[in-house]
Amino acid sequence: MSNDGVAVVWQAEIAEQRGFWAMRYVFDVGGTHTDFAVFAGNGEIVETRRDATPTDRWEAFVGLIADRVDGAERVHGPAQSVGLSVAAVINPDSGEALSANIPHLTGRRLERALGAVLGRRVHVGNDADCFSMAEALAGAGQGFGVVAGIIIGTGTGGGIVVNGRLIRGHSGFTGEWGHGGRLTDDLVARGLVPLSCGCGVAGCLDPYGSARGVERIYRIVTNEVLDCPGVLALWQAGDDGAGQAVELYLDLVARPLALLAGFLDPDIMPVGGGVAGAASLVEELDRRVRDRLASKRASPVLVQGAFVGDGCLRGAAMLGG
Ligand SMILES: [Zn+2]
Repeated sequence: MSNDGVAVVWQAEIAEQRGFWAMRYVFDVGGTHTDFAVFAGNGEIVETRRDATPTDRWEAFVGLIADRVDGAERVHGPAQSVGLSVAAVINPDSGEALSANIPHLTGRRLERALGAVLGRRVHVGNDADCFSMAEALAGAGQGFGVVAGIIIGTGTGGGIVVNGRLIRGHSGFTGEWGHGGRLTDDLVARGLVPLSCGCGVAGCLDPYGSARGVERIYRIVTNEVLDCPGVLALWQAGDDGAGQAVELYLDLVARPLALLAGFLDPDIMPVGGGVAGAASLVEELDRRVRDRLASKRASPVLVQGAFVGDGCLRGAAMLGG
């Protein structure tokens, strides 16, 4: 996504504050795709590549990262550092990753392991944290004090930025509204079978609250198989089955998001990830979340992020700055 106003802010305020005028190579490692981008010194993206994420073998994953960096260096010259936004929680003390959707990352100290392979500094951040930083500093949260970024993609995630600083928390799980066994009762009450989650907990909301969840719920309601964009398109077209499935989905995810919004009282909650591409779904979710809040806010709290497509990449470019 390109926007001249945003680019100016990026250049003048963020790049200067964080001192990254040199070229940066950045990855967004999701449960489905791995996006690679080259950021020029002025904060603009000058090259992007998309590959399927090797989710079954660490060696294949490392090979992809090294290939992309080598290829970019031949064109753009050496990078100051490499940044990765990953669909994993990173323990702030040990640096160990825990990934629900990319199992071979779990238990690895990614900054150290990838730094050794690439022979340079590598900075790694949770994808929702990266997205939240990009939104807070240059996107939908710009100018707000308390920003809670929400990811609804292959998996669910969240990150909290207060006065421009990411809140890392005790164990790296800050803002993770979709993981934890406390959500199991919500599933059972709606007739959904709790599933084991890649984070290691049984009965997380994540398998139902993510884009995969939209597909799962649609299959349960209609006995038909359709991908998330297809379900949302049918829902927008007024289809009965998709309507029932999305109704159940919205009801399910609105509760934990309302708990987060009620507890933190954020100024804004920018939403990113594949599901956030459907603006009407974000509007419906916002309405349901606000209905549950004691504060009865007049203006939207959940909004489509300014960087739904590339917020994680933009946040990863800020890592280690
Ligand atoms: Zn989980």
